[in-house]
Amino acid sequence: MREAVVAFVGLGANLGDAPQALQDAIAALGQLPSTRVVQSSRIYRSAPVDASGPDYFNAVAQLETALDAPGLLRHLQAIEQAAGRERPYHHAPRTLDLDLLLYGSARIDSARLTVPHPRLRERAFVLLPLRELAPALVSDADLAAVAGQRITP
Ligand code: AMP
Repeated sequence: MREAVVAFVGLGANLGDAPQALQDAIAALGQLPSTRVVQSSRIYRSAPVDASGPDYFNAVAQLETALDAPGLLRHLQAIEQAAGRERPYHHAPRTLDLDLLLYGSARIDSARLTVPHPRLRERAFVLLPLRELAPALVSDADLAAVAGQRITP
């Protein structure tokens, strides 16, 4: 088996019972092959950024996985689909959005996958829960840069 890698996944939802959708998604992450959920953050509530609709609920999960990064992304997309995500238009409200934030120390820039996630440091709803799990990965300057974004645990 491949060596396990620590990966961080960002979760967001703003339709239906969004907190429940996040809990279900974290449970689904724990069921992925060769993968375990090491820890998950509290659930945060945030104003939509570049998007419409009601407030979002967000969390970050830390995984240890032997899946490769493209394989992990495919599983994330399958979990989104199973949660009934529809994409009527770009940035539409969604039942569940999963982003691969970090995959070990890998830097990936392919047509389907960019890691670290390109907007990771622009979003309070990623940085706050990520800092809960991995304080060394998020600096005070990172947080200061997103201080204007409305978010509460
Ligand atoms: P979104 O609508 O924000 O969920 O974007 C999904 C699209 O982003 C898919 O086509 C993915 O292939 C692509 N993508 C690129 N990098 C990533 C990443 N790190 N995590 C999740 N999706 C990604």
